[in-house]
Amino acid sequence: MAAIAEAEVRAALAGITDPRSGTDIIARNMVSGLVIKDRNVGFAIEIDPADGEAMEPVRQAAEAAVRALPGVSSVTAVLTAHNNAPAAQRAAPPQAAAPQEKRDLAPDVKWIVAVASGKGGVGKSTTAANLALALAGLGLDIGLLDADIYGPSMPRMLGIKGKPQPLPDKRIAPMENYGIKAMSIGFLVDEETPMIWRGPMVMGALEQMLRDVEWGALDILVVDMPPGTGDAQLTMAQRVPLAGAVIVSTPQDIALLDARKGLNMFKKVDVPVLGIVENMSTFVCPNCGHQTDIFGHGGARAEAERLGCDFLGEIPLEMAIRVTSDAGKPIVIDQPDSPYAAAYRAIAAAVVAKLTGEPARAAPQIIVD
Ligand code: ADP
Repeated sequence: MAAIAEAEVRAALAGITDPRSGTDIIARNMVSGLVIKDRNVGFAIEIDPADGEAMEPVRQAAEAAVRALPGVSSVTAVLTAHNNAPAAQRAAPPQAAAPQEKRDLAPDVKWIVAVASGKGGVGKSTTAANLALALAGLGLDIGLLDADIYGPSMPRMLGIKGKPQPLPDKRIAPMENYGIKAMSIGFLVDEETPMIWRGPMVMGALEQMLRDVEWGALDILVVDMPPGTGDAQLTMAQRVPLAGAVIVSTPQDIALLDARKGLNMFKKVDVPVLGIVENMSTFVCPNCGHQTDIFGHGGARAEAERLGCDFLGEIPLEMAIRVTSDAGKPIVIDQPDSPYAAAYRAIAAAVVAKLTGEPARAAPQIIVD
């Protein structure tokens, strides 16, 4: 089936009128963070917070208009209210928050590290989960924040069921498994339920998951970013006190062009890029052990060199990596002695080395009974 084109989605949304101005929501520049993932579409409609409930019918109409497009199976539209300025005046991405304001978001976390990708489906979430678990295996206190609000996958990947518990002072306890703390919008809503968030959203949700979750003292909070480099991602990169970013890319040239966009996005907001990970790097035949470079191996390493950033390591295309994640026990935990777990541990060690400025040490093995 033909991929859903962004232009088609925008054209459909241009048929929706903003009741306040009488102009359509595309012309008013109210649509941001448009993400198309397979047959699923997500976007935010930026509104004046005062309009709140009055805009709910607009949100519903926008969802219905996109859902009517051929090939679309689910649509998630959220209302966001960043500030009081009319949306048209907010075409430029918001300014970075003041450093102190940023720090207040997660004061007891030493380093917040974003795992990002230029586009969806490159294995960003799989890398984020295994990286977090490998970092915990180094003896660090680790949290994993699933900021991929359009397709939260951490509840499934980490095999965590149930809902986070409310704490006094309107705070919530993070979920835990395999020795790491985790928070995801997926814990708050069913995975199958299309997510409908009213009121201040997208960035608001991320800020809440940072500020209102009792993370406690952490060495590293790994943030699984939403895919892509749109406004929503840029806002996150600006507003969250990131110590650095890891860019996940497949070796395909096209993906690498996307990876470059990710790199530039972090540069723009002065977040150091810790390096690039090449995912689905090579394919090792499970029958004969022959190694095949399906997507042309080594592209990310060469690209990293060209762009003057570090190459953190490569992860092969391996069925067990997918199967273990789908089963809720990522390969770093399920098969700690495998070369794949070792590859994630090497990347974890390289990330720590970049953060501390100390050379990478050999990572200890995690033994799970
Ligand atoms: P993204 O977060 O970039 O959208 P995911 O982490 O959800 O990507 O991965 C997309 C799919 O590819 C998932 O089914 C996942 O299990 C699979 N996958 C990711 N990395 C690998 C790998 N190295 N080998 C095999 N399958 C992988």
